[in-house]
Amino acid sequence: MSVRFRHAAYVTMVAIASSAFAGCTTDSPRRPAQRPPGYAQPYPGQHPNQGYPGQYPRGQYPGAQPYPGQPYPGQPPAQQRPPAPPPVASTPPTPPPKPALPPVYDDAINTFNMPALETRIRGLYAEMVAALPSDRQARVKGINFGFTSNPGEVNGYAGCRGSYRHITVTHGMMKVIAHAAQAQANDEIFKTQKFDEAARFVARNARKGVAVPPPPAGFYNPAHQVDGRRVARQRELFDEGVGLTLGHELAHHYLKHVVCSTTITPADLINVVRRNVGAFSQVAEGSADSYGIENLMDTGRRRPQGAHRLAENGGVMKWTFFAKMRGQNPNGIHLDLDRTHPSSSTRVRVLSLTAQSYRAGRRLPTPW
Ligand SMILES: [Zn+2]
Repeated sequence: MSVRFRHAAYVTMVAIASSAFAGCTTDSPRRPAQRPPGYAQPYPGQHPNQGYPGQYPRGQYPGAQPYPGQPYPGQPPAQQRPPAPPPVASTPPTPPPKPALPPVYDDAINTFNMPALETRIRGLYAEMVAALPSDRQARVKGINFGFTSNPGEVNGYAGCRGSYRHITVTHGMMKVIAHAAQAQANDEIFKTQKFDEAARFVARNARKGVAVPPPPAGFYNPAHQVDGRRVARQRELFDEGVGLTLGHELAHHYLKHVVCSTTITPADLINVVRRNVGAFSQVAEGSADSYGIENLMDTGRRRPQGAHRLAENGGVMKWTFFAKMRGQNPNGIHLDLDRTHPSSSTRVRVLSLTAQSYRAGRRLPTPW
């Protein structure tokens, strides 16, 4: 067992042990203290009252390489745990250049077509739930999955009030990931330097109450922006970036970091205090990251041969983008997203180690 794997196992074990402390409450202190009005708009009459901020730490970008995919093992039934992947190198090799593809003039990531992106994400969410082992599927059954367009809110949430359970993704977060995916795909295909420039643009133009703007005219070479290879790659990165958030929030539910109940016991009150302790917060977030990336990679392995296999690259991309935004605008909209989260370097390490272990055939243990 390598030092790296021992570390990953340690993180996992601590996370599992700590998850037992998560209590039942209707008012989580981990929710952002001041949620902007209209947060619960997709659910009239119901107000998701607690949740976990999404995953936007500071981070260092270790140089993501596309996950090359592995032989498709045959789609397992939903109720069965997917088979472990065969041992392979821990770092995926660089794939051959993509062949030329016809231009795409109306890609939803380029145009910030939010209804189309919502449809795309709903499909991915269904795929990810289907890829969960049956016991975890049972724990997330009936969760209300939706979106909120509250301007300037850049986050993802898992939460509940009473028996109402939800996972909510903000349009702001989708747009920031769309920026990052466009920039990284452009840089990969055309050897440009747009990633840092895009992070600067978003950091300077996104603020509370204001929708994240799309890239301005002229930001990209128009021929680059509609290039078929670029569009295909940005869709992969977008799916991985959003998918990691979905996996993270689903994990908060099935790991019972979010426990929904209409009654509160004295033990629950103690657990509320424990959940406020920084060490627990960080372990819970690390655990959600680990199970989330495993869920995402399981989802990719269930896809037909030739389809994109999902990996950690889009998640690393997202965190790096936020780190660069923070560097440009320390008071920006992203600042309140990572107050309760581990450092970016820790999160990137947990994510990378979990993905490497997965590719080496090692799976996270059943957490209960
Ligand atoms: Zn979280």
